[in-house]
Amino acid sequence: MKQIVIISGKGGTGKTTISSSFSELLDKKNIADCDVEAPNLHLMFENEIIKTKEYIGSQTAIIDSDKCIKCEKCLECRFGAITSEIKVNPLKCEGCGLCKYVCPVDAVTMVDNITGHIYSSKIKDGYLSYAKLNIGAEGAGKVVTEVRKNSLENQGFENLLIDGSPGIGCVVIASLAGCDYAVVVTEPTQSGLDDLSRVLELTKFFDIESYVIINKYDINEEKTSEIIDYCKKAGFDILGKVPFDSTVNKSIQNGIPIVNYEDSIAGAEIKKIWNDFYEKIK
Ligand code: SF4
Ligand code: SF4
Repeated sequence: MKQIVIISGKGGTGKTTISSSFSELLDKKNIADCDVEAPNLHLMFENEIIKTKEYIGSQTAIIDSDKCIKCEKCLECRFGAITSEIKVNPLKCEGCGLCKYVCPVDAVTMVDNITGHIYSSKIKDGYLSYAKLNIGAEGAGKVVTEVRKNSLENQGFENLLIDGSPGIGCVVIASLAGCDYAVVVTEPTQSGLDDLSRVLELTKFFDIESYVIINKYDINEEKTSEIIDYCKKAGFDILGKVPFDSTVNKSIQNGIPIVNYEDSIAGAEIKKIWNDFYEKIK
């Protein structure tokens, strides 16, 4: 199964517009929403959840006061999570396990915290996997790996389309590992260019064939030329340039991929980009 990841160096570049459109244009859809801190593809596609799995994202220490001999060794907790009465403040506990390690009488137990859920859902013509983390829970590479694993288990698909997280952190690295192609979405601003160069360094490091889409290219054609020059020098192909189109906001508000709006110039361009890209990877 070929794995295609759509990423961006930062949020707000139009990654979801591209991801939802590419997903819509795939005949047989096997999609993983790995933007785990802001999953939204499930809002764009009617879906029926067929499997739910708890996600254990952290642990908390619990002290058994009957076993505790008050030796105070666990007060070394660097997060200040253990009180002088030898009680754990769960809000401060980071689950590092040091207290369990130093306790001479095995009075400490580490308990799992369910910090989110991972879903497999049925959509028209395929499947969508995604995660929802609890408020305050941090997205981690582990949850991304779990979401991808769900999608990789689906049989009979030539492609897996992954909506990656923005940035270059560990969740992005977990989205990239093992991918065959990366499509990087950027915008014509200085920060867009800076973030693009950083994320392309990352895809180069992982030896992933990478392509660039410049979204809203016509809001700053000078910067667009700069991005094109940069990509040429760095050896990355520009897959296409999407024009600014106010219909895009309407499509996001209505939860409908932009390619389903007949009158959208952005949608028409994205269709063309997808067809060209699909030819390349066939
Ligand atoms: S698990 Fe770590 S953070 Fe939590 S109470 Fe023990 S030492 Fe402190
Ligand atoms: S290290 Fe163990 S025995 Fe010592 S105070 Fe902490 S919980 Fe009690």
